[in-house]
Amino acid sequence: MSSQALHSETTTTLEKPFLRKILIANRGEIALRIARACRTLGIKTVGVYSTADSELMHLRFVDEAICIGPSASKDSYLNVNAILTAAELTGADAIHPGYGFLSENAHFAEAIENAGLVFIGPRPEHIRLMGNKVSAISAMKKSGVPTVPGSNTAITSDNAIDESLKIGFPLIVKAASGGGGRGMRIVLKSEDLIEAVQSAQNEARMWFNDETVYMERFLQTPRHVEVQVLGDGAGHAIHLYDRDCSLQRRHQKVLEEAPAPNLPENARADILAACVRACQDMQYRGAGTFEFLFENNQYFFIEMNTRVQVEHPVTECITGVDIVEQQIRIASGLGLNLQQEDIVERGHAIECRINAEDPKTFAPSPGKVTQFHAPGGAGVRVDSHLYNGYVIPHCYDSLIAKLIVHGKDRATALARTRQALDEIIIEGVKTNIPLHRDVILVDHVFNHQAVDIHDLEKRLLVESV
Ligand code: ADP
Repeated sequence: MSSQALHSETTTTLEKPFLRKILIANRGEIALRIARACRTLGIKTVGVYSTADSELMHLRFVDEAICIGPSASKDSYLNVNAILTAAELTGADAIHPGYGFLSENAHFAEAIENAGLVFIGPRPEHIRLMGNKVSAISAMKKSGVPTVPGSNTAITSDNAIDESLKIGFPLIVKAASGGGGRGMRIVLKSEDLIEAVQSAQNEARMWFNDETVYMERFLQTPRHVEVQVLGDGAGHAIHLYDRDCSLQRRHQKVLEEAPAPNLPENARADILAACVRACQDMQYRGAGTFEFLFENNQYFFIEMNTRVQVEHPVTECITGVDIVEQQIRIASGLGLNLQQEDIVERGHAIECRINAEDPKTFAPSPGKVTQFHAPGGAGVRVDSHLYNGYVIPHCYDSLIAKLIVHGKDRATALARTRQALDEIIIEGVKTNIPLHRDVILVDHVFNHQAVDIHDLEKRLLVESV
Protein backbone atom coordinates (compact mmCIF):
# COMPACT_ATOMS: atom_id res chain seq x y z
CA MET A 1 0.00 0.00 0.00
CA SER A 2 1.43 3.42 -0.87
CA SER A 3 1.93 6.12 1.73
CA GLN A 4 -0.76 8.13 0.00
CA ALA A 5 -3.24 5.29 0.33
CA LEU A 6 -2.39 4.79 3.98
CA HIS A 7 -2.67 8.45 4.63
CA SER A 8 -6.06 8.87 3.05
CA GLU A 9 -7.26 5.72 4.77
CA THR A 10 -6.34 7.04 8.20
CA THR A 11 -7.59 10.56 7.64
CA THR A 12 -10.96 9.96 6.04
CA THR A 13 -12.43 7.52 8.52
CA LEU A 14 -12.86 9.51 11.68
CA GLU A 15 -15.43 7.19 13.20
CA LYS A 16 -16.88 8.10 16.59
CA PRO A 17 -15.94 8.30 19.39
CA PHE A 18 -13.25 10.80 18.50
CA LEU A 19 -11.37 13.26 20.65
CA ARG A 20 -12.40 16.88 20.31
CA LYS A 21 -9.59 18.82 21.93
CA ILE A 22 -6.04 17.71 22.74
CA LEU A 23 -3.69 19.53 25.10
CA ILE A 24 -0.07 19.24 23.96
CA ALA A 25 2.07 18.93 27.09
CA ASN A 26 5.35 19.75 25.39
CA ARG A 27 7.30 22.42 23.52
CA GLY A 28 9.56 22.91 20.50
CA GLU A 29 9.45 20.87 17.34
CA ILE A 30 7.43 18.00 18.80
CA ALA A 31 4.66 20.33 19.97
CA LEU A 32 4.41 21.66 16.42
CA ARG A 33 4.48 18.10 15.06
CA ILE A 34 1.60 17.03 17.32
CA ALA A 35 -0.41 20.16 16.50
CA ARG A 36 0.00 19.29 12.81
CA ALA A 37 -1.36 15.75 13.34
CA CYS A 38 -4.34 17.12 15.29
CA ARG A 39 -5.12 19.52 12.46
CA THR A 40 -5.01 16.69 9.95
CA LEU A 41 -7.57 14.84 12.05
CA GLY A 42 -9.72 17.92 12.62
CA ILE A 43 -9.10 17.96 16.38
CA LYS A 44 -8.76 21.23 18.28
CA THR A 45 -5.53 21.91 20.16
CA VAL A 46 -4.33 23.58 23.33
CA GLY A 47 -0.70 24.66 23.53
CA VAL A 48 0.98 25.15 26.90
CA TYR A 49 4.09 27.22 27.56
CA SER A 50 6.36 28.43 30.31
CA THR A 51 7.10 32.14 30.79
CA ALA A 52 10.38 31.60 28.87
CA ASP A 53 8.48 30.18 25.90
CA SER A 54 5.71 32.60 24.98
CA GLU A 55 7.21 33.07 21.49
CA LEU A 56 7.17 29.38 20.56
CA MET A 57 6.11 28.75 16.98
CA HIS A 58 3.40 26.17 17.67
CA LEU A 59 1.48 28.66 19.81
CA ARG A 60 0.54 30.42 16.56
CA PHE A 61 -1.10 27.28 15.22
CA VAL A 62 -2.97 25.93 18.22
CA ASP A 63 -6.57 26.94 18.93
CA GLU A 64 -5.80 28.05 22.47
CA ALA A 65 -2.59 28.72 24.40
CA ILE A 66 -2.15 28.78 28.14
CA CYS A 67 0.83 29.57 30.38
CA ILE A 68 1.62 26.79 32.87
CA GLY A 69 4.36 28.38 34.94
CA PRO A 70 7.88 29.79 35.16
CA SER A 71 10.84 28.79 33.02
CA ALA A 72 12.19 26.00 35.24
CA SER A 73 10.84 22.72 33.81
CA LYS A 74 9.93 21.40 37.24
CA ASP A 75 7.53 24.34 37.65
CA SER A 76 5.98 24.12 34.18
CA TYR A 77 6.50 21.23 31.73
CA LEU A 78 7.05 18.78 34.62
CA ASN A 79 4.31 20.24 36.80
CA VAL A 80 1.48 17.68 36.72
CA ASN A 81 -1.01 19.89 38.58
CA ALA A 82 -0.38 22.89 36.33
CA ILE A 83 -0.93 20.79 33.21
CA LEU A 84 -4.10 19.17 34.56
CA THR A 85 -5.44 22.58 35.57
CA ALA A 86 -4.72 23.88 32.06
CA ALA A 87 -6.64 20.93 30.60
CA GLU A 88 -9.57 21.60 32.90
CA LEU A 89 -9.64 25.34 32.16
CA THR A 90 -9.57 24.81 28.41
CA GLY A 91 -11.94 21.83 28.32
CA ALA A 92 -9.38 19.52 26.68
CA ASP A 93 -10.42 15.88 26.67
CA ALA A 94 -6.98 14.35 26.09
CA ILE A 95 -3.30 15.08 26.67
CA HIS A 96 -0.43 14.22 24.34
CA PRO A 97 2.88 14.19 26.25
CA GLY A 98 5.29 14.16 23.25
CA TYR A 99 8.74 12.91 24.25
CA GLY A 100 10.91 13.82 27.25
CA PHE A 101 9.30 15.77 30.14
CA LEU A 102 6.35 13.72 31.51
CA SER A 103 6.00 11.35 28.57
CA GLU A 104 7.23 8.30 30.49
CA ASN A 105 5.85 9.23 33.89
CA ALA A 106 3.29 6.64 35.01
CA HIS A 107 2.02 8.92 37.76
CA PHE A 108 1.20 11.60 35.16
CA ALA A 109 -0.65 9.08 32.96
CA GLU A 110 -2.63 7.88 35.99
CA ALA A 111 -3.45 11.42 37.12
CA ILE A 112 -4.81 12.18 33.64
CA GLU A 113 -6.97 9.07 33.64
CA ASN A 114 -8.16 9.74 37.20
CA ALA A 115 -9.24 13.20 36.05
CA GLY A 116 -11.45 11.50 33.44
CA LEU A 117 -9.22 12.54 30.53
CA VAL A 118 -7.46 10.45 27.89
CA PHE A 119 -3.70 9.95 28.08
CA ILE A 120 -2.32 9.57 24.55
CA GLY A 121 0.12 6.81 25.31
CA PRO A 122 0.41 3.37 26.87
CA ARG A 123 -1.33 2.18 30.01
CA PRO A 124 0.38 3.42 33.19
CA GLU A 125 1.29 -0.15 34.18
CA HIS A 126 3.34 -0.56 31.01
CA ILE A 127 5.05 2.79 31.44
CA ARG A 128 6.00 1.68 34.96
CA LEU A 129 7.10 -1.80 33.83
CA MET A 130 9.36 -0.44 31.08
CA GLY A 131 10.47 2.61 33.08
CA ASN A 132 12.43 0.28 35.31
CA LYS A 133 15.00 -1.46 33.12
CA VAL A 134 15.36 -4.38 35.51
CA SER A 135 11.64 -5.19 35.32
CA ALA A 136 11.65 -4.48 31.56
CA ILE A 137 14.42 -7.01 31.01
CA SER A 138 12.57 -9.67 32.98
CA ALA A 139 9.34 -9.02 31.01
CA MET A 140 11.28 -9.36 27.76
CA LYS A 141 12.85 -12.62 28.84
CA LYS A 142 9.37 -14.02 29.46
CA SER A 143 8.36 -13.14 25.89
CA GLY A 144 11.52 -14.71 24.47
CA VAL A 145 13.22 -11.42 23.51
CA PRO A 146 17.03 -11.80 23.82
CA THR A 147 18.66 -9.56 26.48
CA VAL A 148 22.27 -8.59 27.29
CA PRO A 149 23.91 -11.12 29.65
CA GLY A 150 23.89 -9.38 33.01
CA SER A 151 22.87 -9.30 36.65
CA ASN A 152 19.14 -9.25 35.77
CA THR A 153 18.53 -7.85 39.25
CA ALA A 154 19.47 -4.75 41.19
CA ILE A 155 23.01 -4.77 42.56
CA THR A 156 24.72 -2.94 45.42
CA SER A 157 28.31 -2.63 46.63
CA ASP A 158 27.68 -5.82 48.63
CA ASN A 159 26.93 -8.21 45.77
CA ALA A 160 28.60 -6.41 42.83
CA ILE A 161 31.84 -8.40 42.93
CA ASP A 162 30.04 -11.76 43.03
CA GLU A 163 27.77 -10.76 40.13
CA SER A 164 30.69 -9.43 38.09
CA LEU A 165 32.33 -12.87 38.17
CA LYS A 166 29.34 -14.25 36.24
CA ILE A 167 29.37 -11.42 33.67
CA GLY A 168 33.10 -10.75 33.16
CA PHE A 169 34.82 -7.49 32.19
CA PRO A 170 34.34 -5.02 30.64
CA LEU A 171 30.89 -4.50 32.06
CA ILE A 172 28.55 -1.55 32.35
CA VAL A 173 26.73 -0.40 35.50
CA LYS A 174 23.39 1.19 34.57
CA ALA A 175 20.65 3.03 36.44
CA ALA A 176 17.38 1.04 36.44
CA SER A 177 15.39 4.26 36.00
CA GLY A 178 18.01 5.74 33.68
CA GLY A 179 17.51 7.81 30.58
CA GLY A 180 19.50 10.23 28.45
CA GLY A 181 22.67 8.19 28.95
CA ARG A 182 22.83 9.15 32.64
CA GLY A 183 23.80 6.88 35.51
CA MET A 184 26.06 4.62 33.40
CA ARG A 185 29.61 3.57 34.23
CA ILE A 186 31.81 1.38 32.07
CA VAL A 187 34.06 -0.77 34.24
CA LEU A 188 37.18 -2.39 32.78
CA LYS A 189 38.53 -4.18 35.84
CA SER A 190 37.39 -5.51 39.18
CA GLU A 191 39.35 -2.95 41.24
CA ASP A 192 37.22 -0.13 39.81
CA LEU A 193 33.85 -1.81 40.31
CA ILE A 194 32.75 -0.64 43.76
CA GLU A 195 33.58 2.98 43.05
CA ALA A 196 31.68 2.78 39.74
CA VAL A 197 28.63 1.25 41.44
CA GLN A 198 28.60 3.99 44.06
CA SER A 199 29.04 6.83 41.59
CA ALA A 200 26.33 5.40 39.30
CA GLN A 201 24.04 5.13 42.34
CA ASN A 202 24.73 8.74 43.28
CA GLU A 203 24.05 9.99 39.77
CA ALA A 204 20.89 7.86 39.56
CA ARG A 205 19.62 9.20 42.88
CA MET A 206 20.27 12.77 41.76
CA TRP A 207 18.63 12.48 38.33
CA PHE A 208 15.94 9.88 38.85
CA ASN A 209 15.34 9.84 42.59
CA ASP A 210 16.03 6.10 42.46
CA GLU A 211 19.48 4.73 43.17
CA THR A 212 18.77 1.23 41.84
CA VAL A 213 21.52 0.08 39.47
CA TYR A 214 22.20 -3.17 37.63
CA MET A 215 25.06 -4.52 35.52
CA GLU A 216 25.42 -6.06 32.11
CA ARG A 217 28.18 -7.06 29.73
CA PHE A 218 29.68 -4.04 27.97
CA LEU A 219 29.48 -4.81 24.26
CA GLN A 220 32.52 -3.48 22.47
CA THR A 221 31.43 -3.01 18.85
CA PRO A 222 27.62 -3.16 18.75
CA ARG A 223 25.25 -1.22 16.57
CA HIS A 224 22.15 0.37 18.09
CA VAL A 225 19.15 -1.07 16.26
CA GLU A 226 15.59 -0.38 17.38
CA VAL A 227 12.13 -1.53 16.34
CA GLN A 228 9.06 0.73 16.14
CA VAL A 229 5.79 -0.90 17.18
CA LEU A 230 2.11 0.01 17.45
CA GLY A 231 -0.41 -1.87 19.58
CA ASP A 232 -4.15 -1.43 20.05
CA GLY A 233 -4.17 -2.42 23.74
CA ALA A 234 -6.24 -5.53 23.06
CA GLY A 235 -3.59 -7.84 21.65
CA HIS A 236 -3.32 -6.60 18.04
CA ALA A 237 0.17 -5.28 17.35
CA ILE A 238 2.37 -4.57 14.33
CA HIS A 239 5.94 -3.45 13.75
CA LEU A 240 7.01 -0.60 11.47
CA TYR A 241 10.45 -2.07 10.81
CA ASP A 242 13.75 -0.96 12.29
CA ARG A 243 16.07 2.01 12.66
CA ASP A 244 19.81 2.24 13.15
CA CYS A 245 20.90 4.87 15.68
CA SER A 246 24.55 3.92 16.08
CA LEU A 247 25.97 7.39 15.53
CA GLN A 248 26.02 8.61 19.11
CA ARG A 249 27.91 10.95 21.37
CA ARG A 250 27.80 10.30 25.11
CA HIS A 251 25.20 7.57 24.51
CA GLN A 252 22.96 10.15 22.79
CA LYS A 253 21.82 9.73 19.21
CA VAL A 254 23.17 12.17 16.62
CA LEU A 255 21.91 10.65 13.36
CA GLU A 256 19.38 7.91 12.69
CA GLU A 257 18.37 5.95 9.62
CA ALA A 258 15.64 3.54 8.58
CA PRO A 259 15.74 0.76 7.76
CA ALA A 260 18.89 -0.33 9.63
CA PRO A 261 21.32 -1.06 6.77
CA ASN A 262 23.00 -4.42 6.12
CA LEU A 263 21.19 -6.58 8.65
CA PRO A 264 21.07 -10.31 8.01
CA GLU A 265 17.48 -10.97 6.93
CA ASN A 266 16.91 -14.00 9.20
CA ALA A 267 18.02 -12.27 12.37
CA ARG A 268 15.98 -9.25 11.36
CA ALA A 269 12.79 -11.22 10.76
CA ASP A 270 13.25 -12.97 14.13
CA ILE A 271 13.64 -9.76 16.09
CA LEU A 272 10.72 -8.01 14.40
CA ALA A 273 8.53 -11.02 15.22
CA ALA A 274 9.80 -11.11 18.83
CA CYS A 275 8.87 -7.45 19.34
CA VAL A 276 5.36 -7.97 17.99
CA ARG A 277 4.99 -11.03 20.23
CA ALA A 278 6.08 -9.04 23.29
CA CYS A 279 3.48 -6.36 22.49
CA GLN A 280 0.80 -8.98 22.05
CA ASP A 281 1.75 -10.65 25.35
CA MET A 282 1.49 -7.31 27.16
CA GLN A 283 -1.53 -6.12 25.19
CA TYR A 284 0.53 -3.02 24.64
CA ARG A 285 -1.34 0.17 23.70
CA GLY A 286 0.01 2.94 21.49
CA ALA A 287 3.45 3.55 19.99
CA GLY A 288 6.62 2.12 21.45
CA THR A 289 10.22 1.33 20.59
CA PHE A 290 12.27 -1.72 21.52
CA GLU A 291 15.94 -0.81 21.66
CA PHE A 292 18.65 -3.39 20.99
CA LEU A 293 22.38 -3.64 20.68
CA PHE A 294 23.31 -5.76 17.66
CA GLU A 295 26.68 -7.53 17.62
CA ASN A 296 27.97 -10.67 15.90
CA ASN A 297 24.59 -11.33 14.31
CA GLN A 298 22.83 -11.26 17.68
CA TYR A 299 20.32 -8.85 19.14
CA PHE A 300 20.36 -7.88 22.82
CA PHE A 301 17.42 -5.92 24.26
CA ILE A 302 18.48 -2.88 26.33
CA GLU A 303 15.23 -1.00 26.92
CA MET A 304 11.77 -0.09 25.67
CA ASN A 305 10.62 3.50 25.22
CA THR A 306 6.90 3.90 25.77
CA ARG A 307 6.42 7.10 23.78
CA VAL A 308 6.98 8.66 20.38
CA GLN A 309 10.73 8.96 19.70
CA VAL A 310 12.65 11.93 18.33
CA GLU A 311 13.61 9.78 15.35
CA HIS A 312 10.08 8.59 14.46
CA PRO A 313 10.02 10.53 11.13
CA VAL A 314 12.50 8.19 9.43
CA THR A 315 10.06 5.35 10.03
CA GLU A 316 7.19 7.49 8.75
CA CYS A 317 9.17 8.09 5.55
CA ILE A 318 9.79 4.42 4.80
CA THR A 319 6.34 3.13 5.81
CA GLY A 320 3.99 6.02 4.98
CA VAL A 321 2.38 5.64 8.43
CA ASP A 322 1.81 8.82 10.44
CA ILE A 323 2.84 7.60 13.89
CA VAL A 324 1.41 10.52 15.88
CA GLU A 325 -1.89 10.17 14.06
CA GLN A 326 -1.94 6.47 14.96
CA GLN A 327 -1.22 7.30 18.61
CA ILE A 328 -4.22 9.62 18.64
CA ARG A 329 -6.49 7.13 16.90
CA ILE A 330 -5.57 4.33 19.29
CA ALA A 331 -5.97 6.54 22.37
CA SER A 332 -9.35 7.71 21.18
CA GLY A 333 -10.66 4.15 21.02
CA LEU A 334 -10.59 3.73 17.25
CA GLY A 335 -8.15 0.84 17.54
CA LEU A 336 -5.34 0.07 15.13
CA ASN A 337 -6.71 -0.19 11.64
CA LEU A 338 -3.44 -1.40 10.12
CA GLN A 339 -2.42 -5.00 9.56
CA GLN A 340 1.18 -6.13 9.24
CA GLU A 341 0.73 -6.82 5.53
CA ASP A 342 -0.28 -3.17 4.97
CA ILE A 343 3.19 -2.05 6.03
CA VAL A 344 5.56 -2.00 3.09
CA GLU A 345 9.07 -0.56 3.37
CA ARG A 346 9.95 1.95 0.69
CA GLY A 347 13.45 3.32 0.25
CA HIS A 348 15.74 4.69 2.91
CA ALA A 349 15.51 7.67 5.27
CA ILE A 350 18.09 9.58 7.35
CA GLU A 351 17.56 12.06 10.17
CA CYS A 352 20.19 14.55 11.37
CA ARG A 353 19.52 15.96 14.84
CA ILE A 354 20.46 19.62 14.73
CA ASN A 355 21.33 21.06 18.10
CA ALA A 356 22.13 24.61 19.20
CA GLU A 357 25.59 23.77 20.47
CA ASP A 358 29.23 24.47 19.79
CA PRO A 359 30.32 21.86 17.23
CA LYS A 360 33.73 21.47 18.92
CA THR A 361 32.99 21.72 22.65
CA PHE A 362 29.31 20.69 22.48
CA ALA A 363 28.46 23.45 24.96
CA PRO A 364 24.85 24.66 24.50
CA SER A 365 24.52 27.79 22.40
CA PRO A 366 21.23 29.53 23.20
CA GLY A 367 20.40 32.96 21.78
CA LYS A 368 18.73 34.76 18.90
CA VAL A 369 18.39 33.06 15.53
CA THR A 370 19.18 35.80 13.04
CA GLN A 371 18.69 33.69 9.90
CA PHE A 372 16.84 30.44 9.34
CA HIS A 373 16.39 28.79 5.99
CA ALA A 374 14.99 25.28 5.73
CA PRO A 375 16.20 23.27 2.74
CA GLY A 376 13.72 21.72 0.33
CA GLY A 377 13.59 19.43 -2.66
CA ALA A 378 12.41 15.89 -3.27
CA GLY A 379 12.31 13.77 -0.14
CA VAL A 380 13.35 16.55 2.25
CA ARG A 381 11.41 17.23 5.48
CA VAL A 382 12.45 19.66 8.20
CA ASP A 383 10.74 19.37 11.59
CA SER A 384 11.64 22.54 13.45
CA HIS A 385 10.14 25.35 15.47
CA LEU A 386 12.77 27.89 14.43
CA TYR A 387 12.09 31.18 12.66
CA ASN A 388 14.07 34.35 12.02
CA GLY A 389 14.32 36.28 15.27
CA TYR A 390 13.37 33.37 17.55
CA VAL A 391 15.36 33.42 20.77
CA ILE A 392 16.38 29.91 21.88
CA PRO A 393 16.06 29.89 25.67
CA HIS A 394 18.94 28.52 27.74
CA CYS A 395 16.78 26.36 29.98
CA TYR A 396 15.69 23.51 27.70
CA ASP A 397 17.03 20.79 25.42
CA SER A 398 19.31 22.02 22.63
CA LEU A 399 17.48 20.17 19.79
CA ILE A 400 16.29 22.88 17.39
CA ALA A 401 15.64 21.07 14.14
CA LYS A 402 15.47 17.65 12.58
CA LEU A 403 16.51 17.28 8.96
CA ILE A 404 14.84 14.17 7.57
CA VAL A 405 15.61 12.97 4.07
CA HIS A 406 14.06 10.10 2.14
CA GLY A 407 15.28 8.49 -1.08
CA LYS A 408 14.69 5.36 -3.11
CA ASP A 409 17.80 3.77 -1.60
CA ARG A 410 20.54 4.60 0.92
CA ALA A 411 22.85 6.16 -1.66
CA THR A 412 20.10 8.52 -2.82
CA ALA A 413 19.15 9.39 0.75
CA LEU A 414 22.80 10.14 1.58
CA ALA A 415 23.29 12.31 -1.50
CA ARG A 416 20.09 14.24 -0.73
CA THR A 417 21.12 14.65 2.91
CA ARG A 418 24.47 16.04 1.86
CA GLN A 419 22.76 18.52 -0.46
CA ALA A 420 20.21 19.55 2.19
CA LEU A 421 22.99 20.07 4.75
CA ASP A 422 24.72 22.36 2.26
CA GLU A 423 21.55 24.38 1.88
CA ILE A 424 20.32 24.69 5.47
CA ILE A 425 21.10 28.02 7.12
CA ILE A 426 20.92 28.70 10.85
CA GLU A 427 22.72 31.87 11.94
CA GLY A 428 23.04 33.72 15.23
CA VAL A 429 23.67 30.61 17.31
CA LYS A 430 26.25 27.86 16.97
CA THR A 431 24.96 24.51 15.76
CA ASN A 432 26.28 21.01 15.12
CA ILE A 433 25.61 21.31 11.36
CA PRO A 434 29.40 21.34 10.71
CA LEU A 435 29.64 18.06 12.61
CA HIS A 436 26.98 16.51 10.40
CA ARG A 437 28.67 17.85 7.28
CA ASP A 438 32.26 16.99 8.12
CA VAL A 439 32.32 13.99 10.38
CA ILE A 440 29.31 12.10 9.15
CA LEU A 441 28.63 12.79 5.54
CA VAL A 442 32.14 13.22 4.22
CA ASP A 443 33.27 10.23 6.23
CA HIS A 444 33.96 7.36 3.86
CA VAL A 445 33.37 4.67 6.49
CA PHE A 446 29.84 5.88 7.17
CA ASN A 447 29.17 5.98 3.47
CA HIS A 448 30.22 2.43 2.81
CA GLN A 449 29.58 0.30 5.85
CA ALA A 450 27.65 0.19 9.09
CA VAL A 451 29.30 1.92 12.03
CA ASP A 452 29.14 0.86 15.65
CA ILE A 453 28.04 2.96 18.64
CA HIS A 454 31.61 3.96 19.57
CA ASP A 455 32.78 5.10 16.10
CA LEU A 456 31.66 8.72 16.25
CA GLU A 457 33.34 9.36 19.60
CA LYS A 458 36.53 7.67 18.42
CA ARG A 459 36.59 9.92 15.38
CA LEU A 460 35.93 13.04 17.45
CA LEU A 461 38.77 12.04 19.76
CA VAL A 462 41.20 11.65 16.86
CA GLU A 463 40.17 15.04 15.48
CA SER A 464 40.64 16.83 18.78
CA VAL A 465 44.23 15.56 19.22
P1 ADP B 1 19.32 5.50 28.15
O1 ADP B 1 17.97 5.08 28.58
O2 ADP B 1 20.05 6.32 29.18
O3 ADP B 1 19.36 6.11 26.77
P2 ADP B 1 20.11 2.86 27.11
O4 ADP B 1 20.02 1.63 27.93
O5 ADP B 1 19.06 3.08 26.07
O6 ADP B 1 20.19 4.14 28.09
O7 ADP B 1 21.52 2.94 26.40
C1 ADP B 1 21.91 4.08 25.68
C2 ADP B 1 23.20 3.80 24.93
O8 ADP B 1 24.24 3.39 25.86
C3 ADP B 1 23.11 2.66 23.93
O9 ADP B 1 22.58 3.06 22.69
C4 ADP B 1 24.58 2.29 23.84
O10 ADP B 1 25.27 3.25 23.08
C5 ADP B 1 25.07 2.42 25.27
N1 ADP B 1 24.93 1.13 25.99
C6 ADP B 1 23.91 0.76 26.81
N2 ADP B 1 24.09 -0.52 27.26
C7 ADP B 1 25.25 -0.95 26.74
C8 ADP B 1 25.99 -2.20 26.80
N3 ADP B 1 25.56 -3.22 27.53
N4 ADP B 1 27.15 -2.28 26.09
C9 ADP B 1 27.61 -1.25 25.35
N5 ADP B 1 26.96 -0.06 25.25
C10 ADP B 1 25.80 0.10 25.92
